[in-house]
Amino acid sequence: MIRFNKPYLSGKEIEYITEAVHLGKLSGNKNYTKQCQSFFKTKYGFLHCLLTTSCTDALEMTALLANIKEKDEIIMPSYTFVSTANPFLLRGATLRFADSYSENNPNIDPDKIEELITPKTKAIVVVHYAGIACDMDKIMAIAKKHDLLVIEDAAQAIDSFYKGKPLGKIGNMSSFSFHETKNIICGEGGLLVVNDEELVLRSEIIWEKGTNRSAFFRGEIDKYGWMDIGSSYLMSDILSAFLFAQLENLDTIQTKRKAIWQKYFAGFERLETEHNIKRPFVPDYATQNGHLFYLVCKDLAERSKLIAHLKSNDIHSVFHYQSLHDSKFFESRHDGRELPNSDRYSHSLVRLPLYYELTDNQVNHIIETVNAYYGVM
Ligand SMILES: *Cc1c(COP(=O)(O)O)cnc(C)c1O
Repeated sequence: MIRFNKPYLSGKEIEYITEAVHLGKLSGNKNYTKQCQSFFKTKYGFLHCLLTTSCTDALEMTALLANIKEKDEIIMPSYTFVSTANPFLLRGATLRFADSYSENNPNIDPDKIEELITPKTKAIVVVHYAGIACDMDKIMAIAKKHDLLVIEDAAQAIDSFYKGKPLGKIGNMSSFSFHETKNIICGEGGLLVVNDEELVLRSEIIWEKGTNRSAFFRGEIDKYGWMDIGSSYLMSDILSAFLFAQLENLDTIQTKRKAIWQKYFAGFERLETEHNIKRPFVPDYATQNGHLFYLVCKDLAERSKLIAHLKSNDIHSVFHYQSLHDSKFFESRHDGRELPNSDRYSHSLVRLPLYYELTDNQVNHIIETVNAYYGVM
């Protein structure tokens, strides 16, 4: 069986964890946490980085930093993971879902955003699906015109770019995930990026249970205390040590994953031109980061048959999100608008195996098996 996912290991993870254990500093904001945070700041030019327990928690921090309150409205795509939505619902916000593009690009369609803006709108949350950038110039222009915050759910978007700018650096704040299914992992973990100078100080306080302990550790104040609301969002240094072992190999991981993605993309050209099975669309302004490779089938029935066909050939492929507006939890809360493009990806998108250890032979075998199913030889 070719697995759908297999976590990458550099081989140094246990060594660094052992070192962290011997140093005897196992909580957050210690040696490896600082090294990882500096790595991201140096590599991508992010203003301020805080490692968190998950991307979901980093998004909760963005909701607190944005001062989201009861009845505030947040615009976001429906075709995304629940973690894009929950942090804002927890603050009492109303969610307004915007549809995806109609063509083979599940990202939020900027042309569907402005009609949802009301005096209560506070923020636009974008998701760079599959690590492929949303049209950020358009989105930032809308936000500027209406004085809204932009938060990037960049969970899948590490090391990907929009017009040469790293994703996660464009909005006011952003979040990344190091869950074991992502490119760079530590089991469960995340990163909050703050790009606005005026939010930096408060982000550290919210991170540290509402206290100014970070400033205390830097020697800026002689005692620390309760300053604000907050929670315990820090990643333990044990997990930061694991993460650092991955970061040292970021370029190696990315080169391999992007090559697999390219191989799939080239291998399915005829499937798209002759059978109308869509490959991912990468706009001129965007890059792919080898996070995930998908195909968009004609409909649900066809996708189910393809997944079953692959399974009978020992290849594990999977579908992805159910539109949030159509979920059991949210359907009664939704404003009733149809979001046909989001639904189309819910029904028709299929993801193929993509991970560091996947061999050329396996990728060729997957390409041939899919193509053969459609009679492309
Ligand atoms: C993985 C993912 C998340 C959640 O990340 P966690 O680190 O598991 O909290 C959020 N949003 C998107 C788009 C994701 O893909």
